[in-house]
Amino acid sequence: MPAAIDDHAFTHYLCIGCPLGCRLEVEEGTEHDIIEIRGFACQKGKEFAEREHTDPRRMLATTVGIEGARWPRLPVKTRTEIPKDLVLDLCRSLREVTARAPVRLGEVVVANALDTGVDIVATRDMPEA
Ligand code: SF4
Repeated sequence: MPAAIDDHAFTHYLCIGCPLGCRLEVEEGTEHDIIEIRGFACQKGKEFAEREHTDPRRMLATTVGIEGARWPRLPVKTRTEIPKDLVLDLCRSLREVTARAPVRLGEVVVANALDTGVDIVATRDMPEA
């Protein structure tokens, strides 16, 4: 919940761009416009705060079931970041996915997951049992 002073809202984020972990502050005006970003020690942090405030995204790394393989689970990840508010839905939908061995590293396991335009890809080779 952002703090508010004079109808301006102040939201805080911890930059994950490097181990310094700068504490970032985004000041938002009454029209939800960004007035100022503070607390960053480099441009990367400023861009992180702006993106986190307007369009937060995350990578997802997890596993799906696999048949006919040496191991029961196949490690997978999103090829790129997806909107943060879709991560839970994507986790739920991947529970229903079962791949079939053999699978090669980088192979698409689910194309265009949840209509995001982002594929789910294998993060290791999985030979047949
Ligand atoms: S703002 Fe720059 S220096 Fe600070 S944590 Fe982020 S990446 Fe590191």
